[in-house]
Amino acid sequence: MSKPPLDLQIDDLVQTRKAHPCGGDTWRIVRLGADIGMRCETCGRKIMLPRAECERRIKRFVRRANDA
Ligand SMILES: [Zn+2]
Repeated sequence: MSKPPLDLQIDDLVQTRKAHPCGGDTWRIVRLGADIGMRCETCGRKIMLPRAECERRIKRFVRRANDA
């Protein structure tokens, strides 16, 4: 049995297990699809990762986009 996919939404803020080389560990989800686009909130660099790799890197949600 595989885990269900994370319910990622555009503009979710997530914390990754490893920090970006810039020192930031908070990322904004900017693109959904087969590849997930994430933008580093500290330096603004954008990366694209396959969903499985993206989910492995995410430690927790910092803020959900649909929170009021
Ligand atoms: Zn960065």
